[in-house]
Amino acid sequence: MRLTYRPFELELNHPFTIAKFSRTSTPLMLLQIEHEGHIGYGEASMVPYMGESHQSATQFLSKVDVPRFKYPFDFGAIIQYLDEIAPGNPAIKAAIDIALHDLEGKLKQQPCWQLLGSDPAKMPVTSYTVGIDTPEVLVEKVKQGDGCKVIKVKLGRGSDKELINTIRSVTNLPLYVDANQGWTDRAHSLDMCHWLHERDVKLIEQPFAKTDPDDNAWLTERSPIPIIGDEAVQRFGDVEKAKGVYSGINVKLMKSAGMYEAHRMILKAKELGLKVLIGCMSETSCATLAAAALAPQCDWADLDGPLLVSNNPYQMPEFKDGKWVLNDRSGLGLDAGIAMG
Ligand code: MG
Repeated sequence: MRLTYRPFELELNHPFTIAKFSRTSTPLMLLQIEHEGHIGYGEASMVPYMGESHQSATQFLSKVDVPRFKYPFDFGAIIQYLDEIAPGNPAIKAAIDIALHDLEGKLKQQPCWQLLGSDPAKMPVTSYTVGIDTPEVLVEKVKQGDGCKVIKVKLGRGSDKELINTIRSVTNLPLYVDANQGWTDRAHSLDMCHWLHERDVKLIEQPFAKTDPDDNAWLTERSPIPIIGDEAVQRFGDVEKAKGVYSGINVKLMKSAGMYEAHRMILKAKELGLKVLIGCMSETSCATLAAAALAPQCDWADLDGPLLVSNNPYQMPEFKDGKWVLNDRSGLGLDAGIAMG
């Protein structure tokens, strides 16, 4: 079994601005694990605010003893091993987990969605995210999301109503809203929830700070729109803490350290009566197909990574009626012909 990787810089179509920061590209680590003539593809998307980098990923990978990964893979034991190497580092752990899932599917000649028990017919539509911007650029961005059935809007910089009014002037599509911890006042946040409800907003992500369960729970109890924990919910252990604080959780492979733990989080959330949104960072087709394999088990999907970038090194997966289409190929179903050069 052989692991190779290369750093990659994924360019965004537009500078991406949310409540806390702005950026134009995202560092990735593209990874492959080869075994018995098959290649499993993985990817780490290391958005800067999560604290990982090409350097930290390289350092982590240098400590991984690849021959330990024996097929058929025991993903629970593998994530435990990766966590013992170092805490944190969820994105590079996800890259390994995704590559091994792709490999497992190829060796078993089964698609990953099938291995994980997903029903492709239950695939939710994927939202198309527009960051905070000037009205002119916002209008342009919404037009570029043509083909999507839901728009996700980033709020939290003080001009929230103006932003929604601008979006509403160009589209009647349902909206998801992400406040990215940008709200600070209870009364104002509840007013906003009612105002947004009247404008067909279907969910709100992370209104208050992730460290503030009281205000988030207060709003969840009163809001006519489901409140979803994102920054507050990283790995499996956080799911239980979300109960009573949020209506649901946002699961992302780059937070959960991969597909195995994301799947456990989805099942645990359902058991606790929490809704599930499956989301992404800036990602290529690789990590997006990995999340799409789990998306049919979720209530909503926000998997627009490849739709927002200009240099995806892989073929674009099929996207139809606002949804990713899961194919019957073994593993992730990724067309990776040009990925590693
Ligand atoms: Mg979010």
